[in-house]
Amino acid sequence: MKYVYGPVPSRRLGRSLGIDPIPSKTCNYQCIYCQLGRTINFTNERKNYYPKEEIIAEVREAIKQHENNLEKKK
Ligand code: SF4
Repeated sequence: MKYVYGPVPSRRLGRSLGIDPIPSKTCNYQCIYCQLGRTINFTNERKNYYPKEEIIAEVREAIKQHENNLEKKK
């Protein structure tokens, strides 16, 4: 998968899928404690980095793959 990762543990939701709709280390900050390392693409520009249809299709596929593995909030 290109945009979706997980399921990952979530204190709030139990388990959840993560969605990464921007390229790695594209950010408008350069926090020294960033777990991802130095910002490569330092920008304030707001734009669609990837086609939303691709992201949505991948989310649907991930939900289908993990539907028995994701907890429903009670
Ligand atoms: S922690 Fe990393 S990803 Fe988060 S705002 Fe700072 S530099 Fe950006």
